[in-house]
Amino acid sequence: MDFDLNNEQRMYHDAVRDFCEKELAPYAAEVDHAGQLRWEAIKKMPALGLTGLQVPEEYGGAAMDTVSAALALEEVARACGSTALSIAAHNGLGCFPIVKWGSKEQKEKYLPRLTSGEYLGALALTEPDAGSDLAGGVKTNAYQDGDTWVLNGHKAWITNPGYAPAIITLTRTDKEAGTRGFSMLLVEPDMAGVTVHPPEKKMGLKGSPTQQITYDNVRVPVQENTLGAIGRGFHQTMETLDGGRITIGAISIGIAQAAFEAAIQYAADRQAFGKPIAQHQAIQWMIADAALEIEAARLMVMRAAWLKDQGRPFVKEAAMGKLMASEVAERVCFNSIQIHGSYGYSQEFPVERMYRDQRLMTIGEGTSQIQRLVIARRVLEDAGLH
Ligand SMILES: Cc1cc2nc3c(=O)[nH]c(=O)nc-3n(C[C@H](O)[C@H](O)[C@H](O)COP(=O)(O)OP(=O)(O)OC[C@H]3O[C@@H](n4cnc5c(N)ncnc54)[C@H](O)[C@@H]3O)c2cc1C
Repeated sequence: MDFDLNNEQRMYHDAVRDFCEKELAPYAAEVDHAGQLRWEAIKKMPALGLTGLQVPEEYGGAAMDTVSAALALEEVARACGSTALSIAAHNGLGCFPIVKWGSKEQKEKYLPRLTSGEYLGALALTEPDAGSDLAGGVKTNAYQDGDTWVLNGHKAWITNPGYAPAIITLTRTDKEAGTRGFSMLLVEPDMAGVTVHPPEKKMGLKGSPTQQITYDNVRVPVQENTLGAIGRGFHQTMETLDGGRITIGAISIGIAQAAFEAAIQYAADRQAFGKPIAQHQAIQWMIADAALEIEAARLMVMRAAWLKDQGRPFVKEAAMGKLMASEVAERVCFNSIQIHGSYGYSQEFPVERMYRDQRLMTIGEGTSQIQRLVIARRVLEDAGLH
């Protein structure tokens, strides 16, 4: 990769690539078929910092910069989409809010477990009737009774909740206060009244568990288990999702890169009309477009990561990177199947899985339509028109 990395970032990237090629890529089809993550590999991840990419070292994390974290997630996704989604959700959605807003006690209680490779983090925002419009649609709510919240509601499409020591739950705690009426609660799965339902049967990313959660009069201690200030939950959510866009962009590039490499290999091997199909111009154009688009998307995602590391505004750039990378992944995987012909449509070749896995990327952590809203809003603001 030609992005201007420093030596440390380059070495880290190479070490993660090596690990993923040995521990994840050979098992990706099995993870997909079995619908199970490979815990044997996840338990080895702490040594490379993959289970605590941006968690401070004192809690067992690797305290990486955002560029390194994005590089690592690209490599995990290049090897296995399911593992990449669960590890990305773990780091970006499960660990980040605790690092950012957790009290000392909350950090000491949850972060060492999260970085240990024994658990995975989870953030529950989406509900059966609320995805893009969380502010308008979230019904999960809690009222205070003495020193506990009484929590009721239903979340849907949540990654990793059965493996989380605490499911960070976006909750309406003041029905009259609009976007200032939400709080994030740390809900432990074994608290009475919490039910984590069986994994959804999905099109792709089948090894990454996606589950519904119901909360039935769950008593959650106010002092110990409110994450950050009461009433700040919606703003915390938006900030978390801003960083999450870099993550989904990185996964998109990783899957696109893997599909691209598979297509090149196949095009070199497969003969038609007396020569390898790689020598037919129509195939070369697909290869050229993929090379071009992957490079452009990677630069956009890495630039957003770099801006974040510099403490500079990055929200528009992260939305642009996610939008670009997820739509590039769709085109690259589509054309990789095309280059494989019928073999691309078979489960015997990995591009079929990659095509299914990448499909989430234009939906999760903000759909492409919502990314365009975010970008347009910033562009108009910059022009003094919003
Ligand atoms: C595998 C997987 C893992 C997931 N993991 C998590 C997780 O860990 N935590 C979590 O909280 N959620 C998670 N989600 C949920 C995901 O983030 C949401 O599905 C996503 O935000 C979209 O919400 P929705 O499905 O309700 O779609 P909706 O919001 O109902 O949108 C439906 C369609 O309408 C469009 N639309 C909506 N509003 C507008 C508008 N204003 N302008 C134009 N178009 C609009 C959307 O772009 C989309 O095309 C996951 C989902 C999947 C499939």
